[in-house]
Amino acid sequence: MLVVMQAQATEEQVRAVCQKIEALGYRPHAMPGAQRTAIGITGNKGEVEAGSLEEMPGVQEVIRVSKPYKLVSRDTKPDTTIIKFAAANAHTQPVTIGGRDLAIIAGPCGIESRDQAFAIAERVARAGAQFFRGGAYKPRTSPYSFQGLGEEGLKIMAEVRDRFGLLIVTEAVDYESLDLVDQYADVIQIGARNMQNFSLLKRAGRAHKPVLLKRGIAATLEEFLMAAEYIMSEGNYNIVLCERGVRTFADHTRNTLDLSIVPAVQRLSHLPIIVDPSHGTGKRNKVTPLSRAAVAVGADGLIVEVHHDPDHALSDGMQSLYPDQFDTLMEQVNQIAAVLERGVQSPAKVQAKVRERTTIAVE
Ligand code: PEP
Ligand code: MN
Repeated sequence: MLVVMQAQATEEQVRAVCQKIEALGYRPHAMPGAQRTAIGITGNKGEVEAGSLEEMPGVQEVIRVSKPYKLVSRDTKPDTTIIKFAAANAHTQPVTIGGRDLAIIAGPCGIESRDQAFAIAERVARAGAQFFRGGAYKPRTSPYSFQGLGEEGLKIMAEVRDRFGLLIVTEAVDYESLDLVDQYADVIQIGARNMQNFSLLKRAGRAHKPVLLKRGIAATLEEFLMAAEYIMSEGNYNIVLCERGVRTFADHTRNTLDLSIVPAVQRLSHLPIIVDPSHGTGKRNKVTPLSRAAVAVGADGLIVEVHHDPDHALSDGMQSLYPDQFDTLMEQVNQIAAVLERGVQSPAKVQAKVRERTTIAVE
């Protein structure tokens, strides 16, 4: 059920409707949009009695949502969600994911040492990335493979943020690591293998930081959106979806990057979606071409693995770009973004762009 407020409804009226929903024993989720606020209702087993809500001041209509996902749907919030991040350090400006300009996340698969993280961060920051990726907790197929440095890796990434002005994206694999990631990082990554770990999704829904949700290796579009719905239903509305390839019969790549899911998601959901061409292909020589394609198809950003010495990387060296290759990727991606009247955010430029958009929204 969805309560659509009138365009001129006051905050008090929205609050009163939320209180009424709570009094009925359900949970309200107010989603302010450019035109109007909609209030999603969760926690109901069957149909909510609409009558008492329909008559409240400021309410335009109460509609039944027939899709299994409610809060992630464009029916609830027609305009795309823009997630805003405060500046990483005193020398950078705030950045966004989901706005006009693309967000670029780059870094190694795993944090191996302070020297390794710093060497890579220096190069990806210089090339124009705004976010640094790196696993401190690695979900590996083999229990004998490198599992990550744990909290020590998170501390290294916090240093990277201060020193290079990059916001930190890193994966949480269980409750304990999620609490630590929530504390140290700027974005909590939920990996493909955990996309349907429902208790972890709910915990991420109660965390304070935005969540980067990767598509499961065999997840349908609906399963992907339902995973995001789990997070949102707990009250965390800042979610970025990520296509990272699915398993198919094709064996020339590690996974098959399903770029068609980008426009498919954008049609149904207001959440931003980015693409991971590294896990999506598993092959260094395919990362740049698929990055170009991802931007062309309308992705809101990229997450790319970069390593200064991939031959000695402790995980995913084969798909990690050399820093020079990442420089080229950034140049090409900038050109393709321009065709779509988008750019790549530079932390220094972003302030003016946000102001521009706000002015348009007010008009
Ligand atoms: C990763 O980003 O390093 C990772 C493990 O990704 P995925 O969950 O998509 O396999
Ligand atoms: Mn990896």
